[in-house]
Amino acid sequence: MKSRFVRFMKKGIFLSSFTATALFGSINNASAEITFKHTQLADNLYMIEGQGGFAGGNLALSVGSDGVIMIDNSMPNMLKKLNDQIKTLAGKPVDFLINTHIHGDHTGNNNYFGSQKDTRIIAHDKAYNFMKSQGVPTSNGVIKVEPSALPVITYNNEMSLRLNDATIQLIHVAQAHTDGDTIVVFKEQNIIHAGDIFFNGMFPFIDLAHGGSVDGYINAQKRILSLADDNTRIIPGHGPIATTKTLRNTISMIEDSKQRIQAMINKGLSQKDVLQANPLADLHKKWNWSFITTEKMTQTLYRDLSKQGREKPALKIEHKH
Ligand SMILES: [Zn+2]
Repeated sequence: MKSRFVRFMKKGIFLSSFTATALFGSINNASAEITFKHTQLADNLYMIEGQGGFAGGNLALSVGSDGVIMIDNSMPNMLKKLNDQIKTLAGKPVDFLINTHIHGDHTGNNNYFGSQKDTRIIAHDKAYNFMKSQGVPTSNGVIKVEPSALPVITYNNEMSLRLNDATIQLIHVAQAHTDGDTIVVFKEQNIIHAGDIFFNGMFPFIDLAHGGSVDGYINAQKRILSLADDNTRIIPGHGPIATTKTLRNTISMIEDSKQRIQAMINKGLSQKDVLQANPLADLHKKWNWSFITTEKMTQTLYRDLSKQGREKPALKIEHKH
């Protein structure tokens, strides 16, 4: 198994190299060298991220007199180290655990946390429905989960927790990274956890198989911008903490990539032709990474945009160049 996870270095951070589905988690080897580090972002708010290897999506932990709220929960092989972080930063159990979406590198320890008597899991209705009916997408496919892993508080559009001197808003963004994504806004602290609506410095993963879409993804990123200002700190699902400036650049890159591929689809080019022409070649150096390569990004855009073109021909927009 180890050879599947050959590591490479990008921007000084070690990321693991994965097969097409492995980002979702369940990596059981070489975890000894992977650790968590935490950064205090506000009086009672921490970002927790992996270092030395892939530790799943970035987490946040709010600790205060009202209790402990955690956003996402990494993967099973990181549970012990995650509990060490919780012990150090909070010294008490998690009261509310928010799942930003279904992927196993964000929900991998739902079984464990959901079976703790203090912890209540919160997620969007559609994330709950998928977990209940199918399970959690991991590197080994979609795996069934125990009833204890299921969220017990779900919401449809928006909800707020008013704990630890914060208004913590959960906002659903439709058909973006998946069909059940939540972004979390700590209003007074001016901090947003974007879930996988933001991959900082990398091509994004848009999970078409689980309800994601290119336009939904762009709209969701713009929604984050609309909730933010120049001082907002944004915790991305993957990559280092960011500001709106970085998010704006990312949106421009995705919109630009979309236009290039839409233009080729409008000319009737096949996916094979588009991949061969490599219209995103100039973006490769900055945005390509092991999981979402330039080729995979091109493929995702082609698949989604060509499907929309077929389904909604009347709404096809001609781009002016
Ligand atoms: Zn994800």
